Amino acid sequence: MMRTNDGGPRRIVVISTGGTIASRWQGTGYAADASGSDVLATAPLPEGVTVEVVDLFNVNSSRMTSAHQLALLRTVHETFADPGVDGIVVTHGTDTLEETAFLLDLHHSDARPVVLTGAQRPFGTGDGDGPGNLYDALQVAASVRELGVLVVFDGRVHAARGTVKTQTLAADAFSDPSAERLGRVGFSRVDVERLPERPAPLSLPDAALTVTPGATDPGATPLPRVDIVTHHADGDPLFIRAALAAGARGIVLEATGAGNATPEITAAVADAVAQGALVAVSTRVPAGPLAEIYTGGGAVDLVAAGALLTGTLRAAQARIAVLAALLAEGDGATDPARRTALLRRLLEGPVRAEPALATGGSRSASAVVTRA
Ligand code: ASP
Repeated sequence: MMRTNDGGPRRIVVISTGGTIASRWQGTGYAADASGSDVLATAPLPEGVTVEVVDLFNVNSSRMTSAHQLALLRTVHETFADPGVDGIVVTHGTDTLEETAFLLDLHHSDARPVVLTGAQRPFGTGDGDGPGNLYDALQVAASVRELGVLVVFDGRVHAARGTVKTQTLAADAFSDPSAERLGRVGFSRVDVERLPERPAPLSLPDAALTVTPGATDPGATPLPRVDIVTHHADGDPLFIRAALAAGARGIVLEATGAGNATPEITAAVADAVAQGALVAVSTRVPAGPLAEIYTGGGAVDLVAAGALLTGTLRAAQARIAVLAALLAEGDGATDPARRTALLRRLLEGPVRAEPALATGGSRSASAVVTRA
């Protein structure tokens, strides 16, 4: 798809949501409180880029909820309703950035990019990484097309799918332990080295499911509860049963190894599936795919009990896939079998994007796309 205003400046909308990039000292610790305009004022703008700021909310992302994420998803779609907008940058805390990025990506059908970024060091400090990350994110947002939702951090460009926070404090906070990064940004260049694999995009969830973050509206449709249960030595099926008792409609089992647990946990999974819950099996191992190898409570039995393996997706993103499948009533997924088929599609992510660059790039950006 070609851009609509070739030759003009690239119009990028920055949606500010908080995180360390907006965090200042509060006397006892840091918390997000700087506005999007304040955050933007710390970064130089790439040549030929104009920016508008939307202050959506201001939280540290360990406090992120599905309500925040759905509000952001809707804001992204509303922003792209304006054909003059060339791309979106979302500033976000790093703690749950991978979850928000993946939810946006699963619903992203636009050629124009959404680029998430943030910082490991706080707002307004001399050694802060926020300004550089924001500059890079703007440059990527002004330069690429058809790559879906991206994470730009420390000069690296990552696909939303599969990318996780792998460093608690170091500047290169994100990577996909099972795949190469998508590309690099720096020295006025955006280099895309491989293409993301993305399933056909979902339609936006029902508007009634978008509730104001933090508000309690007794009449609102409750968002589906999806819990993650981690397996370990002495792992107890009690936690799967407790999740169900709390109303979980989806469960991600973060299993050991290539997707293994115990016969007792497998029995709890079978009960959960029989009660209509979606169950996905990920692993606490950082890299590599899930695989049906073992019986005796292993992935062979978990799959036979009705659980789906998550490929190379780790638990937090697998949870987002389950949530998205549950939200997708508009995609005809109310029937359990169809919903399971949809979840399988979201977990597998089979479609390879066709790349395109915004013609001309940002004034200072050149870009190179190489097929993987
Ligand atoms: N705790 C912060 C957050 O996720 C960390 C960060 O932004 O880097 O909001």
